[in-house]
Amino acid sequence: MSINIAIDGTSGSGKSSVASKLADLLNFYHLNTGQLYRAFAFKCLKLGLTEPTYEDVLTLIKTTKVDVKFKNKKQCTFLDGKDVTKYLNDNKIGTIASLISPYQELRNEVVFIQRDLASEYNIIIEGRDIATKIIPNADYKFFITASAEARAERRYKQLLEAGKQVTFEEILQGLKERDEKDINRENSPLIQSRDSVLIETSNLSFDEVVDLVLSYIDKKHYKNDQQEKDCLK
Ligand code: C5P
Repeated sequence: MSINIAIDGTSGSGKSSVASKLADLLNFYHLNTGQLYRAFAFKCLKLGLTEPTYEDVLTLIKTTKVDVKFKNKKQCTFLDGKDVTKYLNDNKIGTIASLISPYQELRNEVVFIQRDLASEYNIIIEGRDIATKIIPNADYKFFITASAEARAERRYKQLLEAGKQVTFEEILQGLKERDEKDINRENSPLIQSRDSVLIETSNLSFDEVVDLVLSYIDKKHYKNDQQEKDCLK
């Protein structure tokens, strides 16, 4: 039986970095499900659809193939057969992803990728609805968040370091809008499941967050060597 760890949380909470570090420490796979929605959003952007309608999303689903492969345990996300991983972290793509992700038809497209991987591999799956919808029977469930200000501050610093011209206010505003959409949508809203452990990171360093999450995980799962093969889903 594979071991599954579900991590949900707000945008910019650092859940991806935490999941990635945990995956290294535990020798688990790590699936960032936001990348799946972002791959569809990237296709929208390429088609000039910056505000896709419901009809656009239905057409998109019929004409688009999104896949995940793991290379040396690192996730590569494919759009229509092409590895697009390096393009997906763009802010514009994140915004479009949050516009199309509320549609259940789109969510149905990616649920199988997630469940197949969960049934086969020891894996950390990270997103918004993992504990509530995708793998409610996960062995461990965490909900990672921080105040909007703390998240905006971290993202602002990262973007400045990357040489981007941004203001703190626009980052804060963007995060708040994303939260609002993710929390209030009808399908699979962002919500902490009753049995998830809440990890509030506003006043914790990255290492403290990783240690805190690890403290809930049974030591028998540390550094298993069961899964050496790469996989394609
Ligand atoms: O996590 P990330 O910011 O990359 O996700 C981009 C968008 O994809 C989110 O704003 C959210 O709307 C959507 N998403 C989702 N369900 C997930 C992961 C991401 O709806 N499991």
